[in-house]
Amino acid sequence: MNASGKFHIMIDAQPQEHLLSVLGRFGVLSGYGPFWKSAAKISSDTTRLCPAAFNRRVYQDLFNALPERNNDGTIARHTPFNYYKSFYPGEVFNSPHQAAVNGPVFPIGHDTFKYAREWRWCSDCVESDIEITGFPYFRIEHQLPGIILCPHHRKTLRSRCGQCKSEWKTISKILVPPANNECPKCKSTVNTIEEELDDEVMWLHEVSWDLLSGKVRLPSLSKIQERYRSYVDIPLSKERFSIRQQKRLGEVQGAINEYFSETFYQYLLKKPGNFYGGRRALSFRFIGMAFSSDKFFQPVFHLMLIRALFKDIDSFIGAGNEHSRG
Ligand SMILES: [Zn+2]
Ligand SMILES: [Zn+2]
Repeated sequence: MNASGKFHIMIDAQPQEHLLSVLGRFGVLSGYGPFWKSAAKISSDTTRLCPAAFNRRVYQDLFNALPERNNDGTIARHTPFNYYKSFYPGEVFNSPHQAAVNGPVFPIGHDTFKYAREWRWCSDCVESDIEITGFPYFRIEHQLPGIILCPHHRKTLRSRCGQCKSEWKTISKILVPPANNECPKCKSTVNTIEEELDDEVMWLHEVSWDLLSGKVRLPSLSKIQERYRSYVDIPLSKERFSIRQQKRLGEVQGAINEYFSETFYQYLLKKPGNFYGGRRALSFRFIGMAFSSDKFFQPVFHLMLIRALFKDIDSFIGAGNEHSRG
């Protein structure tokens, strides 16, 4: 549905605004009554509007309704597209609006992470956004999986009400970040997220923001997988591995499993207490990530793997130019 010309003033995306936040503001400002009524003016894909879908029809519908911004760069700046695109299997397209699909597309493992579906905000950002634009909105850099800090103010974000336990997993429930951090349901103050932030957590934050902003660009998934396979010295995809190769794969998986501290898992996972046979339970296996060319894994898994095996993004990218073995 193209709403061009009708709602321009209300739905112009603001700097760093998540595209779905536009729909929340439109719900508040348009005077159409309940959220579903205002949302239906823009798109038919408006159920379960959590911040982290890689791609969905509503992005395209909103993009078409935005005023004077018909270029691919805009939609990438207002959705998590840049963050996800290197990890997406198959054809690499240039923008989500070229490849919009009906429902939300989530990568494998999405739901193992805390806050991944929840709308988060920084009260300092909200304050300055109101000052500059006149209204509060949800920023894209606060909404990536695993992100609980504001890159501008280095403060922990807010989400979930400690009193009434409301979790804001869909924009229709909260619409915009609440003024004075007041829970719209029970009126108590929504506190900042409390999690421990070690070096690994900070690394994950920095890399996630760099991917989103385009400051760091990873190669395509097939090249990423080539580097993983080069690391274990098993160059091609194989259905059966030799005993030596199986041993090597086991060692690498063990190294990944042991790399991160319990604090890290407690910070990141909804159920940090899951263990397989005494080892930290990861819902990802190195074999799947290196050899399955058709699976769309949550970027956090890839980033953890890169961190555990290559230390940082630069050495991971550099690793493609030499046939290094760990
Ligand atoms: Zn902030
Ligand atoms: Zn509440």
